[in-house]
Amino acid sequence: MRFFILFFTLFISLQAMDFNLIKKNGSENNNTLLVIGGIHGNEPGGYFSAEVLAAHYKIKSGNLWVVPNLNAKSIQADQRGIFGDMNRKFANLDPNDPDFNIVTDIKKLITDKNVSLILNLHDGHGFYRDKDQGTIFNPHAWGQTCVIDQCNLTGSAAFTDMDNIANKVKLKLNEKLIEDHHIFNVRNTNTKFDDEEMKHSLTYFAITHNKPAFALETSKHLSTLAQKVYYQLNAIEMFMDIMNITYERDFNLNQQEIEKIISDEGNITINNNISFNLSNIKKSLSFIPLQSSANEFTFSSHIGSVKAQNGSFEVYIGNKKVTTLHTEQLGKCLDSDTNISIIADKEVKKLNFASNVSVNNDFIVQKSKNLRVNIIGFTDKTHKDESNLLIDYRSLDKSYSIDNDKKSYRVEFYNQNAFCGMVVVNFR
Ligand SMILES: [Zn+2]
Repeated sequence: MRFFILFFTLFISLQAMDFNLIKKNGSENNNTLLVIGGIHGNEPGGYFSAEVLAAHYKIKSGNLWVVPNLNAKSIQADQRGIFGDMNRKFANLDPNDPDFNIVTDIKKLITDKNVSLILNLHDGHGFYRDKDQGTIFNPHAWGQTCVIDQCNLTGSAAFTDMDNIANKVKLKLNEKLIEDHHIFNVRNTNTKFDDEEMKHSLTYFAITHNKPAFALETSKHLSTLAQKVYYQLNAIEMFMDIMNITYERDFNLNQQEIEKIISDEGNITINNNISFNLSNIKKSLSFIPLQSSANEFTFSSHIGSVKAQNGSFEVYIGNKKVTTLHTEQLGKCLDSDTNISIIADKEVKKLNFASNVSVNNDFIVQKSKNLRVNIIGFTDKTHKDESNLLIDYRSLDKSYSIDNDKKSYRVEFYNQNAFCGMVVVNFR
């Protein structure tokens, strides 16, 4: 069975922060689960799971708050921590540490009075076993564990029986194993007495502030990202069940459907006048007309990011470099007529910049008052302005397509030499 549920997500991104926060508030009960992904940049299972939660779950009762990209720069770099291990910065931290603001902001969120329970998502080494069975399977491995710092919390908070909760989650996960050796365990680090290092961790900060907290570790040794996301989502759903947080998701929780979701990179919008579908986009695009500074990039994915590199921009979803935009800097468009119309297969379509239009056979960009049209991949030496010309698929040089399937082409609008905006035409 497949769920076709369209739903609205409540986005509350705190602009001042270096990470995204998505609050999905339901009704009825006040329990709030805070899920944190991406504290370690080379553990994609954690941050892709958090992104799937943010994008594909609807909360009906209770609240789910998601930070999918806590350590965004390390995610982009695919490194544990470009400024050292962020998960060792929660006890005390020099205000000059480059991670200081992020750690301070997430501490505020962890101690927010509404937050009832915190999950910190990781991909750990190997597979935890209580007896040593080699370098992958041993008592020091973190993989496939629900980690607690101690068995329970004293005080008035709910969900203080952490050992009991972790064991329930473990039992549920072990009913859903893809392979037998993926078996889950509870790992109690007994931090207060036994683990000096873990006293600097996010979860220990949480429990010393009377907030129940768990680390969920899938294994770095699982064969696919989809398998990591599968286990994380199953674990998180069990936590939601325990907390009476009810939800709907718009997919079935199996490897195939997860694979499909995480391979859809969504789109990027630039300066509100360019938009590209990132799925199947070419590794590199040339002459993308951007501003000389203050370019604004927005993503449909909450783990999208951009890195400026020698006048180009590398575009990432999580740790995956999706494309590189080689730019050309043009003047600002002052007199922009934004009423674009394209006749697609003889039907007139009114469009805005940063939109796209699908075409079966041919299209004509209609002349608009102040704008000159440049169709990238179309050459006709007799026309400086390529509006009012019938363009079919054969008339386009396929090496100029945006996508690997050679179906998508840029239609750019200029006022004299200033770039005003772009529309993408997709041949079906
Ligand atoms: Zn980790």
